[in-house]
Amino acid sequence: MKMSRDSIRGICDALEQAGIRPTHQRILIMKYLAEYRVHPTAEMIYSKLKEEIPTFSKTTVYNTLKLLDEKGLISALATDEDQVRYEANMTPHGHFKCIQCGALFDLDLACSLPPEKEVGGHLVLEYQVMAKGICRSCRGG
Ligand SMILES: [Zn+2]
Ligand SMILES: [Zn+2]
Repeated sequence: MKMSRDSIRGICDALEQAGIRPTHQRILIMKYLAEYRVHPTAEMIYSKLKEEIPTFSKTTVYNTLKLLDEKGLISALATDEDQVRYEANMTPHGHFKCIQCGALFDLDLACSLPPEKEVGGHLVLEYQVMAKGICRSCRGG
């Protein structure tokens, strides 16, 4: 994983603004999520980062993801396989899940509700769209 100095600076700033001490491991996890927009699980992040830093612990990965999610720096997506997937893309968007290969893609949705909107007397705080189907590469196109 190559790290440019600008993106490291940006990640440090974001962590500090959220009141999180920018440790090397936290920076690596943020960087990974910013670069690999595949919505990885904690397990995937752990096995990838462990290749680079053999001392990386699974607990650190889980704790860091929890902290970053609580502070609103990343978002956690619950999927139907009982797995939580993570992403650093905080702009509102929907998801498309391929039922054949399991890949999860971002969808630009023009129809997403603005936050804090009332629908049928309910106050919407968060709105998630999960479309399912067969992705472009599984369709052979
Ligand atoms: Zn697919
Ligand atoms: Zn996404």
